[in-house]
Amino acid sequence: MSVSTAAADRSVCSPLPVLGRDVTVPLVTGGEVTYAALDYAASAPALQRVWDDVAAYAPYYGSVHRGAGYLSQLSTDLFENARGTIAEFLDCRPEDQVIFTRSTTDSLNLLAAALPADCRVFVFETEHHAALLPWPEDRVTCLDAPRTPQEAVRTLERALADRAPHGPALVCVTGASNVTGELWPVRELAAAAHAHGARIVLDAAQLAPHHPVSVRGLDVDWVAFSGHKLYAPFGSGVLAGRADWLRRAEPYLAGGGASRKVTRLQDGAVRVDWHESAARHEAGSPNVIGAYSIASACTALTQAGFDTLVAREQQLIRRIREGLAEVPEARVLSLFGDDAPRVGVISFVVEGWNSSHFAAALSAEYGIGVRDGLFCAHPLVRLLLGGDPQSQGECGAPEAAPGETSLNAIRVSFGAGT
Ligand code: PLP
Repeated sequence: MSVSTAAADRSVCSPLPVLGRDVTVPLVTGGEVTYAALDYAASAPALQRVWDDVAAYAPYYGSVHRGAGYLSQLSTDLFENARGTIAEFLDCRPEDQVIFTRSTTDSLNLLAAALPADCRVFVFETEHHAALLPWPEDRVTCLDAPRTPQEAVRTLERALADRAPHGPALVCVTGASNVTGELWPVRELAAAAHAHGARIVLDAAQLAPHHPVSVRGLDVDWVAFSGHKLYAPFGSGVLAGRADWLRRAEPYLAGGGASRKVTRLQDGAVRVDWHESAARHEAGSPNVIGAYSIASACTALTQAGFDTLVAREQQLIRRIREGLAEVPEARVLSLFGDDAPRVGVISFVVEGWNSSHFAAALSAEYGIGVRDGLFCAHPLVRLLLGGDPQSQGECGAPEAAPGETSLNAIRVSFGAGT
């Protein structure tokens, strides 16, 4: 079949070719320049290989799980095989489920909707809002930001030990910060969670594009990530992990595909038997292209080899940090310290500059695309800037007058495809 043949025959070189590397953009000073995309943490450009795989699939496009025709069966196979590819990419346990969602945000909201009734949730205040906000308000404990990885583990252990009653609990933690790029001690946090009878979900939105993620090696219960940060197009994400809570939960969406048997009872009520597989939470016609794209990106990353990709990314990190070190007014934001291991996400402020103006100037005068703001992690960015963590402020809003140092920051982010 030509779709899989096209995918299998392609040799992948490193760095991973992304689409749009040669896009030119106009400058305010006149002329144009090749765009420098340095906002991968928001959305990474999709790999050329992913677009090629999708294009190769296009002639075989058909409905999934619904049609008897050849193309429907083929599409169903591609969709279901994508789960297997992703399970392998994440080194899942054989019994784990891979559920397709819209994004990391959607995955964590799905898990929040599946919590056992009396489950408490523990998150650090440093989390992205996608990991901070989905949990029921009356059951979530927001932990103080730790200043070392060891302190993170101790803080979590204390909180879990102190919880009363000693019922089910879930810890949600990021693998790599979308603000500082710093790696979190996931394996140690998972061990602490399990030692105290809790479970743990890893927000791998920023980790998975940069490092191999092993569900078994880290011993996490679930992993969530987004396709559009992992070099696939927008609109698809994954929640992978233990089936038991998900199987017992009400379907995230009610509708066709999630239901195994629907019966109208004599009293007029409708009785539904829901699937117990991943389909339980995937009602409606699924995003087949999204699922296939993620699987294609996972395969490309694996074939390129994370050792190679990490080495290149670390080179880029060094180069950017050395450049920033030459600007005395620039201060790089860090929670765990300058030497902490990190991925290609660097946030900074420049004394005397409004970050939003600085970012706008990088775009208008140099064609460099970065992000400014609070990066959907308001408490963390305010803490790192020395501001009041309780103060209000909108995501991305400039918070300082021209000439003053900002209460928001500038972020450059990149990866193996840069
Ligand atoms: N978690 C982290 C660490 C992130 O950086 C992001 C996005 O920036 C998310 C979760 C949410 O991802 P999405 O917007 O794809 O749902």
